[in-house]
Amino acid sequence: PMPKLNDPELLKEACLVAGKWVPAGENAIEVTNPSTGEVIGRVPKLGARETDEAIEAARIAQKPWAARTAEDRANVLMKWHDLMMAAQDDLGAMMTAEQGKPLAEAKGEVAYGASFIKWFAEECRRTNGEVIPGHQPDKRIVVLKQPVGVVAAITPWNFPNAMITRKAGPALGAGCAMVLKPASQTPFSAIALGVLAERAGLPLELFSILTGSASAIGGAMTASPTVRALTFTGSTEVGAKLYEQCAPTIKKLGLELGGNAPFLVFDDADVDAAVDGAVIAKFRNNGQTCVCANRIYVQSGVYNEFAEKLAAKVGSMKTGDGFDEGINFGPLIDEAGLEKVREHVEDAKSKGAKVILGGEAHEKGGTFWQPTVLTGVDTSMKVATEETFGPVAPLFRFETEEEAVDAANATEFGLASYFYARDLSRVWRVSEALDYGMVGINTGLISTAVAPFGGVKHSGLGREGSSHGMEEFMELKYLCMNV
Ligand code: ADP
Repeated sequence: PMPKLNDPELLKEACLVAGKWVPAGENAIEVTNPSTGEVIGRVPKLGARETDEAIEAARIAQKPWAARTAEDRANVLMKWHDLMMAAQDDLGAMMTAEQGKPLAEAKGEVAYGASFIKWFAEECRRTNGEVIPGHQPDKRIVVLKQPVGVVAAITPWNFPNAMITRKAGPALGAGCAMVLKPASQTPFSAIALGVLAERAGLPLELFSILTGSASAIGGAMTASPTVRALTFTGSTEVGAKLYEQCAPTIKKLGLELGGNAPFLVFDDADVDAAVDGAVIAKFRNNGQTCVCANRIYVQSGVYNEFAEKLAAKVGSMKTGDGFDEGINFGPLIDEAGLEKVREHVEDAKSKGAKVILGGEAHEKGGTFWQPTVLTGVDTSMKVATEETFGPVAPLFRFETEEEAVDAANATEFGLASYFYARDLSRVWRVSEALDYGMVGINTGLISTAVAPFGGVKHSGLGREGSSHGMEEFMELKYLCMNV
């Protein structure tokens, strides 16, 4: 079921509640491997009562944590980072088992996840305030940055490690406490981070990890007046609900929601580079990321060349169990994920799209789907407006730059976008015209701890990573001194 780990203690069938490990009892959630359907373990099914306990313990633990020096907090985070990297193989294996992504990609995510802890360990020592010249001769103005207090976090299954570390790193670094609910599909990656945090010397009451009913745990988190900020990564639908639930207690909100990323290839692009970029932007994590290229627009002069080269390249890649050698694409997370992909492909086919690669469920069965490339796609098809979240590349043809930018912006989402072009004026024009929080220019991979990740429109609020990611977990306090 679970691969053999070098350090079996990392796989813990327990939650961390108010400083104590609570084992899975009678009432538990079974965690399955999406590749094989096998049960790999059980985690507790907790609810509002345990969430309230965790919040209260966090409230008490947060004060002395915030009172420590930033260097002290940074040292704990750095130790946590080092332990994560030392356990990279085990954390990667656990992730492949519960999430399905190929082992190399899982280990890559562990390094990416750890990089947020390192970045914010460094960044938390530089949360400098300001001294502002006074508005009257006897006034001096000083601005402090202080932690918001107790933070609640809810995270998804597609990046079971990194979506947690990019919230926990800045929150804990700033001097906050965190109560986390990871996705029920991928709890072991989250819990292992708790095991390592304990070893790194993090006071355990500062970081509770609760698995269980999303609505019960989320309900207790959002209702609590003690929780001062909520940080969520997931669907726009659930994000909007949480936004509403947070309104009565006026919480600070960080929301990383859905995307529907456009990927534009202009006639002046390096087509081979664009193909490589599209493979990464579209097919990473088998198409299951919120920054995955969802709509690929190709200018007519290079449309056929791009389509052929993309299909050839993706066709040479391998789908299978993430633990097998040389696998590029794993299974989809669950049946519902598979059904959405099927629905989008069938809809496109029925409206005249041509399948030049894949287009069917994979012969491996289960939730495996063949990597798919569709040509002749138009705006009447579901792939034009909905996030597919699977390995399907729909290719739209366009003639003019203006037409492409208008099409790219014709969505309520605004997270990531990508384009390939060489003309410098066009690069600026298109970058400025895209209504997105992030633009990849001649690259298909934009995620890094050092840059501000986030979206506009229905894709969310706030930014994660970079120095801006720290600000989400701090409040400004201004001191007006009469001297
Ligand atoms: P995805 O499509 O990525 O699974 P969701 O928004 O459904 O996105 O889930 C993301 C996270 O939000 C998961 O941890 C899930 O359990 C949690 N979640 C789902 N519904 C709710 C809810 N009503 N309240 C709080 N959290 C929720």
